[in-house]
Amino acid sequence: MISIGFLGLGKMGSVMAPLLIEAGYDLSVWNRNAEKANNLVSLGAKLVSSPAALASTADVVVSMLADDAAVIAVYEGPDGLLSVPVNGKLFIDMSTLRPPTVHYLAKQVQDSGASFVDAPVSGTVAPAKIGKLLVLCGASKEDFERAQPILDIFGRRIVHAGPVGQGTLLKLVVNLPLAVYWGSLAEAIAMGNEGGLDLNLMLDTIQDSSAALAVLGLKIPTILGEPSPVAFDVASMKKDLLSMLDTGENFGVPMPATNGVLETYSATLDDGYGDADAVEIIRYITEKVTQSR
Ligand code: NAP
Repeated sequence: MISIGFLGLGKMGSVMAPLLIEAGYDLSVWNRNAEKANNLVSLGAKLVSSPAALASTADVVVSMLADDAAVIAVYEGPDGLLSVPVNGKLFIDMSTLRPPTVHYLAKQVQDSGASFVDAPVSGTVAPAKIGKLLVLCGASKEDFERAQPILDIFGRRIVHAGPVGQGTLLKLVVNLPLAVYWGSLAEAIAMGNEGGLDLNLMLDTIQDSSAALAVLGLKIPTILGEPSPVAFDVASMKKDLLSMLDTGENFGVPMPATNGVLETYSATLDDGYGDADAVEIIRYITEKVTQSR
């Protein structure tokens, strides 16, 4: 069986990587903060000391990193993945990146004689834990066929969106309405609150209406302020909104709704809530309006 290397043991990577061990793969892992690999090592993964060591050991390298800067550092930094011979290997990046970064990385990898596939995901930590993500993949037909058995471990469905970069574009298409939804929900709840409606009553009614979203039920405890683990944070949402706006601008698409939501997320981040769950803007906006009375 081929050996796999996994980089990026954050909120998503730490629950995705164990699925590879469960599936019987020989797994090596690397994370900037090595302590986060302890659980994986106890499950049987081998911890390596650098991305270069990972690329030397593994036939297929999967990355799930924070953002463009993280992925560039891991691929091209000193001791990076591409600092060693990688001819014939397959690189699958599952982070949400900007499309130009994906095209740039794909070229660097291909120039090194290896293959590159972008495979960002829709879905958060709970579906990631049980291999039920929606995986959005950009790859040549040949590379897609090579990546699919591995992507199947992470996903309930693997969408082949087209050549490299199209998985990333589709991810932005899927996430844009979600971002705008949370922004609009924040405004609706703040309005209802100012008029004297109870938060539980509003959420319960929305959930039973055509304004409900599949993920809303899962997020209600967080919206109500009950202690729950952060899944997708405010800083990551801002990163994705900036990428959507850049992409829309490149295609000449006006995006007033996306710009409005970016304003809300930027203000939340500037007020020190970057690590909070992205749906916490709902409580944040309500409180801000209340305080400004
Ligand atoms: P996260 O918890 O913040 O983890 C980020 C990972 O990137 C960590 O392993 C971190 O290493 C690493 N990293 C950050 N900067 C780095 C650098 N300069 N060099 C090397 N490693 C670096 O993020 P996440 O929530 O798992 O998300 C990962 C990706 O999936 C993001 O692109 C996100 O947009 C996307 N995504 C997330 C969700 C979600 O619900 N969380 C859902 C869909 C897609 P350290 O541990 O050392 O900090």
